[in-house]
Amino acid sequence: MTEPAMLHGECLCRTIGYAVPDAFTYAWNCHCGGCRRATGSAFKPFAGIAADQIRLVRGGDSIMHYGNGPNHDVHCGQCGSLLWSLVRDGQFVHVTLGTLIDTPAIRPQAHICVAFKAPWHVICDGLPQFEGLPP
Ligand SMILES: [Zn+2]
Ligand SMILES: [Zn+2]
Repeated sequence: MTEPAMLHGECLCRTIGYAVPDAFTYAWNCHCGGCRRATGSAFKPFAGIAADQIRLVRGGDSIMHYGNGPNHDVHCGQCGSLLWSLVRDGQFVHVTLGTLIDTPAIRPQAHICVAFKAPWHVICDGLPQFEGLPP
């Protein structure tokens, strides 16, 4: 077994850098209102991996947590970029694919929360679409 390659990511102002193994277990595009507002985009492409797999490379002093408890979002406190969300009772992180510098092996596998999709956005690919979360 060879170790998976490490992927690096960073926020807009590059204050915060992180590393995560190229071993995501799923990747989805979320169309919910929260993800749209957090990113300012039509949807949020993200990939999931066990929370203990991600590590900060630099900028830890500038981390801003949005939300409390085991589920919350991790932003850069300087530029505001959403880097990842702690989810599923803190067991997983959903890493925003847009903050990765390196290219992950995984590709988005489905659109989720399509029931909340922005009416002005048209999904143009053939990926499966789920009203909420995949079954
Ligand atoms: Zn930043
Ligand atoms: Zn969402």
